Amino acid sequence: MLDVSSVEGSRQGLWIGGVMVKPSQDLYGQSYDPTTGQPWYEFARGNAADVAAAVAAAKDALASPSWRRTTQADRSQLLRRLADLIARDSERLALLETRDNGKLLKESRAQMRVLPETYHYYAGSAATFEGSTIPGNKLDMLNLTLREPIGVVGIIVPWNSPLYQLSWTLAPCLAMGNTVVIKPSEHTSVSTLALAQLIEEAGFPPGVVNVVTGLGSEAGAALACHKDVAKIAFTGSSTTGREIARAAAGNVAQTNLELGGKSPHCIFADADVDRAARAVLGGIFGAAGQSCVAGSRIFVQSAIYDDFVERLVALTASVRVGHPADDVDLGPLALKEQLEKVARYVGYGRQEGARLIAGGKQPQLAEQTGGWYFEPTLFADASNDMRIAQEEIFGPFGTIIRFEDERDLVALANDTPYGLAAGVWTQDIERAFRFARDVEAGTIWVNTYRSPSYATPMGGFKDSGYGKHYGIEALREYSRLKSVILDYSGNTY
Ligand code: NAD
Repeated sequence: MLDVSSVEGSRQGLWIGGVMVKPSQDLYGQSYDPTTGQPWYEFARGNAADVAAAVAAAKDALASPSWRRTTQADRSQLLRRLADLIARDSERLALLETRDNGKLLKESRAQMRVLPETYHYYAGSAATFEGSTIPGNKLDMLNLTLREPIGVVGIIVPWNSPLYQLSWTLAPCLAMGNTVVIKPSEHTSVSTLALAQLIEEAGFPPGVVNVVTGLGSEAGAALACHKDVAKIAFTGSSTTGREIARAAAGNVAQTNLELGGKSPHCIFADADVDRAARAVLGGIFGAAGQSCVAGSRIFVQSAIYDDFVERLVALTASVRVGHPADDVDLGPLALKEQLEKVARYVGYGRQEGARLIAGGKQPQLAEQTGGWYFEPTLFADASNDMRIAQEEIFGPFGTIIRFEDERDLVALANDTPYGLAAGVWTQDIERAFRFARDVEAGTIWVNTYRSPSYATPMGGFKDSGYGKHYGIEALREYSRLKSVILDYSGNTY
């Protein structure tokens, strides 16, 4: 195993203008190891002054010829170099992520395999991302559009998949020539600082990428309302997303909001129940349920309801809970607050009259290690208006609801404030398309679940936010469109 012990007990800094600096107030916070509940390093608590320094560095870099005068080909080459460096250091980055948020090492490794591909994808796609020439309404005029960087982009990231979620914004941002200030989650900032050093090694000019770690209420809030930030790309909870949109509106800054979810995962009686049952488990226990697209509302058609629920119980009994670096299926939760939240919702489920059919408490391992482990938990016979069906829990906690027919299902699936993702299992292709048409969610999976592609746009509807990441759409999100109209008639005015 590669060594990440140099981080143990260390004090991290801020990455501003290509150098690691101390926070201006010399204040630090603690990051914890979820497998023991013990501190393992201190993150720097950046404040408004640090954010101002980082934004100034990003603004300078935007204006400096070493970045402003790069061609698309130059930037693609830098992105490719960065992709290669991430691939070189992928094991260390995966270990940092797992130690910081408790994600299974096999999941972290899988994400680190996707990262280089994501940077390569934007290196290639940005090179073919073209403006247009437009047949205007006057003779002898050339009307065309240009794509240009928006400016300084603030990227605010949550703790559940730090580098993965950062990269879906960072890669298109850099490809389009923006400069950025990143505010990682206070719970998981060390891998982002490691990435910043790779960005420098790849040859990006200083100040193009800056990292201000710290609390949401301090560093995050200061970034969201900074007057020189042209766009905030935010991934996190719907509550914080609203605050950010309000703060950015004061400067007429754009926002891209990737927020929470309570996604329906729906099983019709004609489904391949074997595959569907395994996908249901992966959908809610993958990443310990701390996934924005977790299939947390599980709808099962009446005709197969009892058998399918029995199957889920049997499969859940075989889920191995353990240390994320071992060969297990479920690691700890990333935060103590998350653990407490999951336990609280078990109480709500009981009070509301749903039937607890698996889990519902911490395993012995938690007592032995101090780690934030929770058993894989399922409630059956729930109704869609219960709190456990309506509110995002963000843990290994699935709520199973019975439905009768397609119409009934679509109404139930849409009856939530969220609209991030939805999954359907059926052999009937026409029904699958009707589901895709009628269900209000930014991504619909048919006979699969939780399988994103960096080439395919993702992003939510309703309280799950707006704007897209991934695919060519992200290049639109992180560039602005300029129209140029040129008169070649020679007419005098
Ligand atoms: P969070 O909203 O608490 O925090 C996210 C980030 O925002 C952190 O960096 C935090 O420090 C910062 N922040 C907090 N308050 C702020 C403020 N007032 N101003 C500016 N920044 C502030 O979310 P979290 O608990 O870190 O992450 C979990 C949430 O993220 C879940 O709701 C999950 O569904 C969502 N999420 C969504 C997606 C998606 O693509 N839609 C992906 C991953 C996670």
